[in-house]
Amino acid sequence: MREGARKDLGTAPEAWGAASRTPRAPARAPYAHARPGSYSAAMSDSAVSPARPVLHIKGRVLVGAEDVRDELWVIDGRVTYERPRGARDVTVIEGWTLPGLVDAHCHVGLDEHGPVDASTSEKQAVTDRDAGALLLRDAGSPSDTRWIDDRDDLPRIIRAGRHIARTRRYIRNYAHEIEPDDLVAYVAREARNGDGWVKLVGDWIDRETGDLSACWPRGEVEAAIAEAHRLGARVTAHCFAEETLAPLVEAGIDCVEHATGLTEETIPLFAERGVAIVPTLVNIALFPKLAEGGERKFPRWAAHMRRLHERRYETVRAAYDAGVPVYVGTDAGGALAHGLVGQEVAELVKAGIPPAAALHATAWGARQWLGRPGLDEGAPADLVVYGSDPRADVRVLGAPDRVVLRGKVIR
Ligand SMILES: [Zn+2]
Repeated sequence: MREGARKDLGTAPEAWGAASRTPRAPARAPYAHARPGSYSAAMSDSAVSPARPVLHIKGRVLVGAEDVRDELWVIDGRVTYERPRGARDVTVIEGWTLPGLVDAHCHVGLDEHGPVDASTSEKQAVTDRDAGALLLRDAGSPSDTRWIDDRDDLPRIIRAGRHIARTRRYIRNYAHEIEPDDLVAYVAREARNGDGWVKLVGDWIDRETGDLSACWPRGEVEAAIAEAHRLGARVTAHCFAEETLAPLVEAGIDCVEHATGLTEETIPLFAERGVAIVPTLVNIALFPKLAEGGERKFPRWAAHMRRLHERRYETVRAAYDAGVPVYVGTDAGGALAHGLVGQEVAELVKAGIPPAAALHATAWGARQWLGRPGLDEGAPADLVVYGSDPRADVRVLGAPDRVVLRGKVIR
């Protein structure tokens, strides 16, 4: 039944419907070039007029974890593996090439105090781009950043509209703060405003109990998720606590952000339903500082946050081992700076995820999950070139040699 429901969602259901079942280990996942020919219409002739500029990418082109080629070309902003004939204006770039990285949890148009102006939003997007993050899933923003879609020099953004939170149960100025009776209506509204995703705040500190607790009753959240699915949107939720997770998964949620509260009881449930997690470990690193700040007023909450932080690597590793789809997200735009995508990949490796799988979580796999092409024939040329092999040491992601966006060399 769930599989049937999933097939109705989104603009590229075949892409992410399959991705939601993608095995965790790249060796078992022949996802590279999953849809050959899908983007090939523009490239039917390999003869190029001598005046048309051609970009020639050489070295090791990492089309997939197991699919490595010697070269590709970029003509009219698109990838081709057919050597063009007759081209004279050829720029050669050499190195290790990945498709543009995905930051699957960041916020453009937002800082720690709330919405920011367009020039600040632009700087955020540029910082992500220069770090190689060319596809962002915006996990909630109070700013209208649609203008970014018209800019060829800025990353592509998949938006989740504005966060939906319970009244006074989230960071001030971020979310629509509402009560459960209005949840379905607000989810419908943000499903229409977004690009195929809706973002809920699933739990937050409850000042009455002095600890984290779930924000939404089961019935309302189930109706809201069903409504989002009916409108073709997937739903994700910010969750720190343990008890929040099972009801959301049972209500049909598609993804959970942070997911620090995963346990041996809930991990199999996520694995079985194919519910993805975006751990945002660079953000979880701030938990001890948050705990310190709230210690006096909310000691129970502070202790809880410290426990979640202490076992963060173990939690992520256990989820990965069980087959839960894991993706890279930084949570930039709240308390954190933009441009940390490479650091988050390194954190996943530190948690015990093999480097190739951590790359899968920000490159091939993440793109497929979001329904966007990688380095497929005819796909828009969004790619990043490195001076050494990221599979050997993911830390190279922190310093891309070249960034190519829509076929243009940006840096
Ligand atoms: Zn966030």
